[in-house]
Amino acid sequence: STAQAAEPAAGGRPLPYLDAKLPVQQRVKDLLARMTPDEKIGQMTQAERNAVDADRAQITDLKLGSLLSGGGSTPTPNTPAAWADMVDGYQQRALATRLHIPLLYGVDSVHGHNNLVGATVFPHNIAMGATRDPDLVERAAHITATETRATGPQWVFAPCVCVARDDRWGRTYESYGEDPDLVSRMETAVDGFQGDSRKDLARPDRVLATVKHYAGDGDTAYGSSTSGSYKLDQGVTITDREHFRTVDLAPYVTAVRKHDVGSIMPSYSSVDWTEDGIGNPVKMSANKELLTDVLKQKIGFDGFLISDWDAINQIPGDYPTQVRTAVNAGLDMFMVPYSAEKFEQALLAEVQAGRVPLSRIDDAVRRILRAKFELGLFEHPYTDRSNAATIGSDAHRAVARRAVAESQVLLKNADRALPLKAHQKIYVAGANADDIGNQAGGWTVTWQGQSGNTIPGTTILQGIRQYAPDAAYSRDASAPAAGYDVGVVVVGETPYAEGMGDVGNGHTLNLSDTDRANVDRVCAAVPTCVVLDVAGRPQIITGELPKADAFVMSWLPGSEGGGVADVLFGKRGFTGKLPVSWPRSEAQEPINIGDRHYDPLFPYGFGLTTRR
Ligand code: BGC
Repeated sequence: STAQAAEPAAGGRPLPYLDAKLPVQQRVKDLLARMTPDEKIGQMTQAERNAVDADRAQITDLKLGSLLSGGGSTPTPNTPAAWADMVDGYQQRALATRLHIPLLYGVDSVHGHNNLVGATVFPHNIAMGATRDPDLVERAAHITATETRATGPQWVFAPCVCVARDDRWGRTYESYGEDPDLVSRMETAVDGFQGDSRKDLARPDRVLATVKHYAGDGDTAYGSSTSGSYKLDQGVTITDREHFRTVDLAPYVTAVRKHDVGSIMPSYSSVDWTEDGIGNPVKMSANKELLTDVLKQKIGFDGFLISDWDAINQIPGDYPTQVRTAVNAGLDMFMVPYSAEKFEQALLAEVQAGRVPLSRIDDAVRRILRAKFELGLFEHPYTDRSNAATIGSDAHRAVARRAVAESQVLLKNADRALPLKAHQKIYVAGANADDIGNQAGGWTVTWQGQSGNTIPGTTILQGIRQYAPDAAYSRDASAPAAGYDVGVVVVGETPYAEGMGDVGNGHTLNLSDTDRANVDRVCAAVPTCVVLDVAGRPQIITGELPKADAFVMSWLPGSEGGGVADVLFGKRGFTGKLPVSWPRSEAQEPINIGDRHYDPLFPYGFGLTTRR
């Protein structure tokens, strides 16, 4: 199914851009020279697949360069074959264009191929940060790449390398932690996705990676967001240049220089250099200094910039101004989910009017085409399904289970309450003990995630019962009868994702009344009480900590809750370390290592150990 050029090739030889033996640079140059302005603009355009599904001819007509499945945009049935058939169906339409340029298909595989039911779902990044294990992070990303590419998408909008500086942010769990050095160390994820060099990208177990959201998305000021009722998400990073460089920008230098990341997604947030006294925040999508001067020129990023979802709509001005500003600032591809046609027309008009130089368009298209050639899409535009049998396999799940175990942070262990012994009579309580949707969190099958039986896997309770088959369970707050040796109370959050999860927007860091009641009743009735917190960020536990003999931060484990049981029962020792500072109260936020008056409940890096 190699693409055939419409134009006859001289002397029976393939056109240079279709000649796989030629260097990528030469193929890009050849193809670019054949393209019309509207074909070039098409390459810069990315639509949501739902927008074109009913009328797939639009892919050909609009000459779309890319499609995405936004969070929760899944085929029916949600199976590997349905995914691959879907992506290949769109690809067929792209190959029907004059120059047969293949589509690039992107998806948010942020903790495994999490939109696919049956995929291996890893703990969210905050838990991966707690492992302090870059090799494991790389293996997890490699599995994610394998499972994703076997179903069609060749590009993931991951890893998020945000440096989360305020736990009230609803995306805190997408961060490896509050310390830019830790985040940088975990960028082995890029290697797991892409392979050791971009030469691996054409392989069926690799995908193009995206580091996001450039830059400062995790460092916005509380209350600075103007997006709906959000407090931090899409807000303003109010900072001086030194702080911005050392905290927010640092992971991008690593991603570019050390890992050669293929794409970068600018943030919805803005930056305000208060040191300049401007007080005039500039949206990242419009920030020419940071996108072009700093990222592309100074840091040397030679991949392409993909905008966030409709992000250009947040730039001040009318639509043509928004488009012009973003392209001239340095954005290369535009996630314009439901307005691809409008975008293409506006950009073409700006180019024709001379307000966007053709050299800028050529630069953007060169960057995008390079990725398509490196991914081998011109030779193999359709899905290589040979790895589909490994999706959700025991071997993949075993790696996820190990990641869960390594991520558990032991905050308290009085009188060696842990590890548990299989002969102990155990009473388990709390909804999050037996809810795989809650333990997977946001970005799981649906955008915001949801409670309930959403994906196959092992709940924490099921994991506990692998060691202690007779463990009793009550979802809510009934005190155990006498005779139990140990109570395990699982508290925590229910799923949320960007925007919605900000504290102050219906969320709080406080434990729910039900969770507090569960701790009260169970811990009062058993000799040994263990509390597990299944949440995307630290919660306020000052009242509950004294009631517990042992307290474990379990984060959002994903599909393999058995990893929690592995450390509870001592099959593995506790080794996880806090990737964020743990506040005493919500009022202490933002609280970060290096703060002048640093008085957390548990400091950054804290974590007790047990031996296996
Ligand atoms: C998020 C990105 C994500 C994109 C595509 C946006 O709303 O901010 O992280 O990659 O949607 O789903």
